[in-house]
Amino acid sequence: MTSRTAVYPGSFDPITNGHIDLVKRSLTIFDEVIVAILVNPKKSPLFSVQERTALAQEVFLGEPRVRVEHFDGLLIDFLRHCDSRIIIRGLRAISDFEMEFQMALTNRKLAPEIETFLMVPGFKYTFLNSTIVKELASFGGQISDFVPPPVERALKEKFVR
Ligand code: ADP
Repeated sequence: MTSRTAVYPGSFDPITNGHIDLVKRSLTIFDEVIVAILVNPKKSPLFSVQERTALAQEVFLGEPRVRVEHFDGLLIDFLRHCDSRIIIRGLRAISDFEMEFQMALTNRKLAPEIETFLMVPGFKYTFLNSTIVKELASFGGQISDFVPPPVERALKEKFVR
């Protein structure tokens, strides 16, 4: 059997326990997961791409089957560059569906050999996203249930008052 590399693209601004849950689930199916951090000039992220990459790398330090990279441009070009044919995305609620469906079909039109896997996280992560975590952190709220310790530290540093 050939080894299967899946690419999990996103902003990861910053990586949360929900993202991590999805990576762990993916590792039960695929041999390797590349966390692919999108450099999107249209968004103004809280963390630079270097910071987002370093945080994700720290989180997966003990997991040799996870690689963290960043990319710009078309996702399918990045997949071809990585020799992967699998995109992983998360579905938390019905509200995610329309956008993810549209993206999956667009990517299929551009690259029919690539399949998108829409994965559902553990129930406790279904309400979680990076925006909520950043908002909580900005008001000094407790975020330890939502992000791993390195991310908690980094968020606290960003919002030092
Ligand atoms: P993007 O800007 O591409 O949506 P995100 O980092 O917000 O980047 O999300 C990347 C992917 O991870 C998306 O498919 C999103 O649905 C998924 N995701 C984000 N948070 C969670 C979560 N708590 N549980 C499962 N999937 C998630």
